[in-house]
Amino acid sequence: MLKGGCLCGGVQYEADTDGSVAGHCHCTRCQRASGSGSLPAFLVDTDKLNIVAGADQLTTYAEEGFAARHFCKTCGSGIYASGENFTVVNAGTLVPGSEFKPQFHMMVGSKASWEEITDGLTQFPEYPPMG
Ligand SMILES: [Zn+2]
Ligand SMILES: [Zn+2]
Repeated sequence: MLKGGCLCGGVQYEADTDGSVAGHCHCTRCQRASGSGSLPAFLVDTDKLNIVAGADQLTTYAEEGFAARHFCKTCGSGIYASGENFTVVNAGTLVPGSEFKPQFHMMVGSKASWEEITDGLTQFPEYPPMG
């Protein structure tokens, strides 16, 4: 079980997963959404992500054809994104003691020119084979 929450503490969740299906996404949308070079996230079964506090503080940014991004409307922290049949949680929201295990970098073909990947994780130019 992994636990996490937003910057202001209003939104808190529990994710029933070991966080081992996880990676860093370098797509331009994740760059914008995170304000960073990439967005680390882990996969969780949609029905195993439980918002235990502050569900009413969550708001959603959604565009046709892309995952909907859910974030805290008080502090702006991105919490998770959901598509038709997947949910990914932003790993930067995890609390100490809740560790995820990134396995890869994805969408490396669109990574920021100034970002250098220095770890040894597998790099995929687009989506990883698992889809
Ligand atoms: Zn918040
Ligand atoms: Zn992305």
